[in-house]
Amino acid sequence: MSGLLNAVPIFSSALPILADFLPERYERYDKQPPSERSKQITTIIDKIPGKKPPIKIIDNNDPNCSVLGSNLAKKFFLFVSPDIEDALLPWAVTHELSHILHDDLFNLRIARLTAAVAGIVIPMYLFQGSIYDTFTKIFCSFSTMLAADLATDILYGRFRECRADQFANAYCREEELKQGIQLLKKLVPPQEKEGLLCRLGSTHPSAKSRIAHIQQELKRRGKED
Ligand SMILES: [Zn+2]
Repeated sequence: MSGLLNAVPIFSSALPILADFLPERYERYDKQPPSERSKQITTIIDKIPGKKPPIKIIDNNDPNCSVLGSNLAKKFFLFVSPDIEDALLPWAVTHELSHILHDDLFNLRIARLTAAVAGIVIPMYLFQGSIYDTFTKIFCSFSTMLAADLATDILYGRFRECRADQFANAYCREEELKQGIQLLKKLVPPQEKEGLLCRLGSTHPSAKSRIAHIQQELKRRGKED
């Protein structure tokens, strides 16, 4: 049943937003032991100025770093792979901190929900009194909802990744930026090796362009990589 609901963008965005009101939503992660590197990672986070929400650091098996939680739930989890060496952590953690401070996961859901509702309501409104049969109207409205959701996911996804990269580039030291380049080289998503269509559909900017931005920042600071 939930699989069926998740196939409809309105539900796949709205249900997690509603679930953030429930205290048991993140129970599974609350119970997990904190990462052994929590102290080290907290030091990186504390170096960034400004107020931060409570963040629990957890080890995960994913090769990448990721975040979960929202301001609404009043909690955040930062997942860090043990495969990421200590030297690569500052850039990666600062990037993820941007997602937390901008409440990106929650805002992406709000943006997708808004786009999906608009995608289905606007065509229905435009179809009022038209000659098309009901099936055609529903089919077209459903299609525009899917397209609006997908476009928002890709565009907002890329926007938030660029913002998080800029955040990391602004707050990391030169040596940490160079490690950021190493990290991106290591984590090139497989779709970048595939065709143009996969690249267009990616919610992340290409690793090549992300590396170029770090190199620009290094150059700006007078120390080219
Ligand atoms: Zn990111």
